Amino acid sequence: MRILITGGAGFIGSNFVKWALNNHDSLIEKVVVLDKLTYAGTLTNLTDIDTRKLEFVQNDICDSEIVESLVKRVDLITHFAAETHVDRSISGPAEFILTNVLGTQVLLDAVKKKPEIRLIHISTDEVYGSIDEGSWDESFPLQPNSPYSASKAASDLIALSYARTYGLDICVTRCCNNYGPNQFPEKLIPLFVTNIMENKKLPLYGDGSNIREWIHVEDHCRAIWQVVQDGDSGEIYNIGSGIEKSNLELTKLILDEFKLELDYIQKMPDRLNHDSRYSLNSNKLITQLGWKPTIDFEKGLRSTIKWYQENRAWWQPLKQRVD
Ligand code: NAD
Repeated sequence: MRILITGGAGFIGSNFVKWALNNHDSLIEKVVVLDKLTYAGTLTNLTDIDTRKLEFVQNDICDSEIVESLVKRVDLITHFAAETHVDRSISGPAEFILTNVLGTQVLLDAVKKKPEIRLIHISTDEVYGSIDEGSWDESFPLQPNSPYSASKAASDLIALSYARTYGLDICVTRCCNNYGPNQFPEKLIPLFVTNIMENKKLPLYGDGSNIREWIHVEDHCRAIWQVVQDGDSGEIYNIGSGIEKSNLELTKLILDEFKLELDYIQKMPDRLNHDSRYSLNSNKLITQLGWKPTIDFEKGLRSTIKWYQENRAWWQPLKQRVD
């Protein structure tokens, strides 16, 4: 099997490259990573890998010529490449529309020319909007609130339209918030952990009551692989853990690990139109494809914190990029 992994130098994409090679080496002949290496991507995410099987192409997903040439050479695509930080989408939406919407359409047009290929389009729970009670299943209407989630919702719908209109073999996955090693230190968990290590305060939005569902990136990678193998074409699969934490609860858990008190928190004005709660119903993936999350949240959080403590040389230069 030859796989094209777009955005494979980012957080989840690089974890997926490593997870796939570590767990399915005998099935994989080649992994081609296409990544623009924006501020969020780094080749230091792709160390400790069997480089004989890895080919790295630095390019923009919007470059149709390159994308077409790569698609011709593979049997499977997992599409992670995206602009992903909600705050950046609020201050500058254009890049999100270009990469997330147009970039996906460029990729889909290339797939249209090789219709036997399977494409897994990686998306997010944020496309559903915000839910005060209950959980979203895959049939819930999309009500995205930020330019980031709107650009992801647009790309999901375009991907599904290509599956229906042209009969392409496409699945869409929608996952909750990920945590784990190699997450860019502007996202909540790595930002707070590295801030503590730099003796800086933890900037918490509003009263911290916003609730997110958290999954370890390795459980997400396993779910994507399950969809690669058994997902039905044209279908959407939610990927959730059922573990919900308010931002304040999560911040307290991180502070507890460092034996620090709440005065380490610096209250910030709330994010514009901050979604109050995300919650996925993942029964379809669990009952139809037999996946379930396996990583206990507190253990996963502890090992993630340890990873940042042991990999200062990885995150320090990245943090300087955006300081
Ligand atoms: P990330 O920001 O860490 O990585 C994104 C990668 O895409 C980077 O390596 C970047 O260089 C690359 N990229 C950006 N623009 C590009 C372009 N124009 N052409 C080629 N490459 C480009 O993001 P992530 O957290 O790893 O997220 C990966 C995917 O998973 C995204 O599609 C995101 O929407 C989705 N997702 C993320 C989460 C989460 O909690 N992080 C949850 C659910 C879904």
